[in-house]
Amino acid sequence: MKIEIAEHAGYCYGVERALKLTRKASDQSPTPIHTLGPIIHNPQVVDSLAADGVTPIADVGEAHSGTVIVRSHGVEPAVIELAKQKGLEVVDATCPFVAAAQQRAADLVREGYRLVIVGEHDHPEVVGILARARGGALVAEKPEDLADLGECKRVGVVVQTTQSIARLQEIVGQLLLISSELKVYNTICDATTNRQKSAKDLARRVDVMLVVGGKNSANTTRLAQICTESNADTHHIETARELVPEWFGNARDVGVTAGASTPDWILDEVVMALTRIGESLG
Ligand code: SF4
Repeated sequence: MKIEIAEHAGYCYGVERALKLTRKASDQSPTPIHTLGPIIHNPQVVDSLAADGVTPIADVGEAHSGTVIVRSHGVEPAVIELAKQKGLEVVDATCPFVAAAQQRAADLVREGYRLVIVGEHDHPEVVGILARARGGALVAEKPEDLADLGECKRVGVVVQTTQSIARLQEIVGQLLLISSELKVYNTICDATTNRQKSAKDLARRVDVMLVVGGKNSANTTRLAQICTESNADTHHIETARELVPEWFGNARDVGVTAGASTPDWILDEVVMALTRIGESLG
């Protein structure tokens, strides 16, 4: 059984940067360290940081002292303001690609465009971008969501950094039909584009495709969707323990990819377990 890893897989720049800032804060500060939500959408990494005293909180109101870390998804400006008012140290690990999407959204609203954010309604990154629109935006996950837009002459678009280009094209295509002026910023990040493209290419070529990463990770879940569209024998797993040998009974080529929040050691464990399964199948 041949195992092939996608050309672009695993940790992205923004996640590595957020983890580096978190570890630095944890090493340098004796005070409690909190992350606003899990620092990345990977339960195994969050558990290992918790062992070093880095705990996720759902709301800044839960922190009474120490440091709060804004994760790569970013937050609403009011949250940072509140943390500072409470006397908390704030480490802002918002990914620069997310910060760029936030800035584009604010610019479009200032220029008088009705803002459409292509993304998932409740995703923290989208909530943070929405806050920059001062409430004047519509979030669209699918073309039908545009029904609430009403009459619009000038429409501006930004997109959640981890969305697929196909989703953006679908919604922009619909907007072309209902607006007279359309300004689109493609704010999907390079890491997402590269991972999605190489996963799709690989899924097309192999018998079985594995996507490794948190089930709560938007970018990993999207990778799994994209791979499934090209290869029905796609499985999304978080760790090597979820591998089922029967999946590979007739497989000659197995492809593996991993989301932007999946650490190398989890990917390595999956590849090692796959190798053992391949040897046992003969
Ligand atoms: S997926 Fe892209 S936007 Fe998100 S953290 Fe990684 S590099 Fe930044």
